Amino acid sequence: MEFRPSDLIKGYHVHIYYDGGSKQWAGHLRREVAKRWPQAELGRWRDKAPQGPHPQSHFQIAFEAKLFPEIVPWLALNRKGLSMLVHPNTGNGYDDHANNDMWIGPSVQLRLDYLRKFEEEQRKKKQAAA
Ligand code: ZN
Repeated sequence: MEFRPSDLIKGYHVHIYYDGGSKQWAGHLRREVAKRWPQAELGRWRDKAPQGPHPQSHFQIAFEAKLFPEIVPWLALNRKGLSMLVHPNTGNGYDDHANNDMWIGPSVQLRLDYLRKFEEEQRKKKQAAA
């Protein structure tokens, strides 16, 4: 039996999904996260959906692995009905979204076919550049 060590994880993303009715709360969370964890990186609002593998409007929070035990439980306590994807970053985007995903609240069906194609194209580009 082979187990993957957690030190493969370079950091985490949380993708916070929202719609017209929940965007205001998502905005409150966004401002509060920026205030509490200035070292976390906030992605821009992605109103247009679908975008990449994400079927709903969302924004992303990126942070170092050591912030996980602070940020993730805080988001769970304050999600107020929002769905949030939490995934580690190991260098394999497909695997991180398709197989290594964790959810705060109900999960959202990601567009994994899109992601698979995207990762393949990136691999081809890298090979062509090498
Ligand atoms: Zn992500």
